[in-house]
Amino acid sequence: MNTIILAGGGHAHLAGIADGSLRHFPHTEVILISPSRYQYYSGMFSGFTEGIYSEEQIRIDLSVLSQKHGFTFIEEEITAIDEAAKEVITSSGRSFSYGLLSLDIGSAQASSPSILPIKPNYSFPEAIRSFREGDQPVIVGGGASGVELSLAAAGYRRLNEIGSPVTLISGGPLLSSAHNQKLLQICQQKGVTVIQNKKARLLGSEAIDAGEDTRIPFSHLLWLGGPEAPSLFKNSGLRIDGNGFLPVDERLMHSPSIFGAGDCVSITRYPELPKNGVYAVRQSKVLWENLKRTAEKRELVPFQPQRRFLAILSTGGKAGFLTYGRFHYHGKTAWNLKHAIDRRYMNSF
Ligand SMILES: Cc1cc2nc3c(=O)[nH]c(=O)nc-3n(C[C@H](O)[C@H](O)[C@H](O)COP(=O)(O)OP(=O)(O)OC[C@H]3O[C@@H](n4cnc5c(N)ncnc54)[C@H](O)[C@@H]3O)c2cc1C
Repeated sequence: MNTIILAGGGHAHLAGIADGSLRHFPHTEVILISPSRYQYYSGMFSGFTEGIYSEEQIRIDLSVLSQKHGFTFIEEEITAIDEAAKEVITSSGRSFSYGLLSLDIGSAQASSPSILPIKPNYSFPEAIRSFREGDQPVIVGGGASGVELSLAAAGYRRLNEIGSPVTLISGGPLLSSAHNQKLLQICQQKGVTVIQNKKARLLGSEAIDAGEDTRIPFSHLLWLGGPEAPSLFKNSGLRIDGNGFLPVDERLMHSPSIFGAGDCVSITRYPELPKNGVYAVRQSKVLWENLKRTAEKRELVPFQPQRRFLAILSTGGKAGFLTYGRFHYHGKTAWNLKHAIDRRYMNSF
């Protein structure tokens, strides 16, 4: 085994590279294949949406990173994996052989010509620039990303004196039932109209059916109804779980020569594990350790998720909503903490 292919410039791959993990592979060619030179950091998407951060501040240049850490970067999409031949095929038709393949390609989103694409993440800036200026911007999905982006877009619109509100449609409580009331109050104060407990269905290219004769028109639509599986695994004939994600065991191993981490995998032992950047970064250490141990033919180590983690949503105007389990706090201190954590993460590259 002397070639490791890293498929996707996702959090789990990049956090390990930034930590210096490549020094453990002195005689191995490491190739990172990702469709864009830039990896955009979703932790700072809300700040970008609101106009606080520039595009340059929220992205990592994979080409520069490859020179700094001595790996090969190929700016292409992987379109197929030939597990038997141990090869990946890219968008230009080239094939690359691997001894070990590590998959960190993130998740996909609901796709329709009416929905603005924000995945892969390099499409985010263009989509959000038009969304935040729209006459009737609507977001479907009351999870962390839906709540945060509605509030960020509302913040941008306040600053730029765009009158109409942002509408957020949620099938259930915002974030979780423990935090719903407080978040509803914040949304109301900050110019986000929330339509709650409604199952949204797309009605052509201009409206959402939210049940019970409720029709919500939109000019610009973001659909953040939860991560969907990338088509690559199914199309390549790899073993997949019931939702199309790549199943891995708690050692993040799919097969003896394929590993994976982040949103694109489901860890068989922890099927309910949330898909977010926090867990993708946490998996990074185990992923890199096990790539090294596989190369050295040593026993692998398991990933053990923490039950709770600190999360901070930006709520606009440099305020943040911090949660830890059922605890929450809303204020400027939370945003300052988030800003410091995000800046430290980006500076690590
Ligand atoms: C608006 C928004 C805000 C969010 N905010 C937060 C937050 O504050 N905190 C948090 O923890 N989570 C947040 N998330 C969730 C977070 O973005 C994801 O869970 C996280 O990015 C997953 O990381 P990953 O490493 O799995 O993949 P990603 O970060 O999505 O990276 C995947 C990489 O693989 C590349 N790729 C895709 N397909 C291919 C292919 N076929 N071949 C090669 N490369 C490919 C992509 O271009 C990309 O570079 C947010 C999500 C959204 C949508």
